Amino acid sequence: MRRILILGGTAEARQLAGKLAGRGDLAVTLSLAGRTASPAPQPVPVRIGGFGGADGLAEYLSDECIDVLIDATHPYAATISANAAKAVTESGARLLALRRPAWERVSGDLWNEVDTLAEAVQVLGDEPRRVFLALGRKDLVPFLHAPQHDYLIRSVDPVDPPLALPRAKYITGRGPFTEEHDGALMAAHHIEVVIAKNSGGDATYGKIVAARALGIEVIILRRPVLPDVTSVGSVEDAVRWLDHLPAPKTKRGV
Ligand code: NAP
Repeated sequence: MRRILILGGTAEARQLAGKLAGRGDLAVTLSLAGRTASPAPQPVPVRIGGFGGADGLAEYLSDECIDVLIDATHPYAATISANAAKAVTESGARLLALRRPAWERVSGDLWNEVDTLAEAVQVLGDEPRRVFLALGRKDLVPFLHAPQHDYLIRSVDPVDPPLALPRAKYITGRGPFTEEHDGALMAAHHIEVVIAKNSGGDATYGKIVAARALGIEVIILRRPVLPDVTSVGSVEDAVRWLDHLPAPKTKRGV
C-alpha cells in the first residue's frame, strides 16, 4: 500500500484525490492550510493546519510513512512549495508538483504585469479608479495605501473585520466563475481595472475573458519562483506519473 499526502487547497488537489480515492493500492490523505471557514468537501481523509515549516513537514512525512508527497497547492503558495521540496530531502519521500500552466496573454488583453501587489498599487495611480480586486484576503493589505479608489472585493469568506478602505464593497463567492457572470458583475459596478493573480486554469479565467471583451485593463501579478522539482500540469498526468512509479520497497528503516 503506497501512502500519499496531497498538499491541497485547489480544485486540482480535490480532483486528484477524487481519482485516487477508493483505490486499494493507495492510502491518500489531503492536507489543507485551514484558510477557509467551511472548506469544500473532499473525497479522501483530510488533515488541516500548518506543519510547522519544512522540518515539521519532514517529521510528518516520516511519522506517517508517506511514500509520495504531491504538491498540488496554488501556484502563488510559494512557501509551502519550498517547504515540500526541502522536506522530501529529509524524509526520503518522492515529490511531484501538480502545477497549472499560467495564462498566456492573447490578442485584445490589456495586461499590465507586475511583480508585487505594492507595484500594482503604484500602477493604479493617484486618481480614483473603480477596481475589481479578485485576490485572497491576506493579499489586500497593500491597498490600504490607496484609499482613494472604489474597490469591489471578492473573497471566499467575508473580509471580517472590513479593511480601513472607505470606498470598498465586499462580495463573497467560490469559483468557478463564468465570463458571463464576471462580465455582468464588472459592468454593474462600472469597473475600470481588474487586479488578479495569473492563477491559470478555467475556474477563474472568466474575469480575464470578460475584461478583454469589455476593454478593461488587468493588472496581473507575475507568478512567484517555485522550486525546480518534477512537475506535471494536469490531474491526468499526475495519475499517470503515480502509476509508473516503481513498486514501493520495504518501509524505510525496516
Ligand atoms: P503559503 O504562503 O505557501 O504557506 C504559508 C503556510 O501555510 C505554510 O508555510 C504552511 O504552514 C501552511 N500551508 C500552506 N498550504 C498548506 C497545506 N496545503 N496544508 C497544510 N499547511 C499549509 O500558502 P498560502 O498562499 O497562504 O495558501 C494557503 C492555502 O490556500 C494553500 O493550500 C493554497 O493551495 C491555497 N490557495 C492559495 C491561493 C493563493 O493565492 N496563495 C489561492 C487559492 C488557494 P507551515 O509552515 O506551518 O507548515
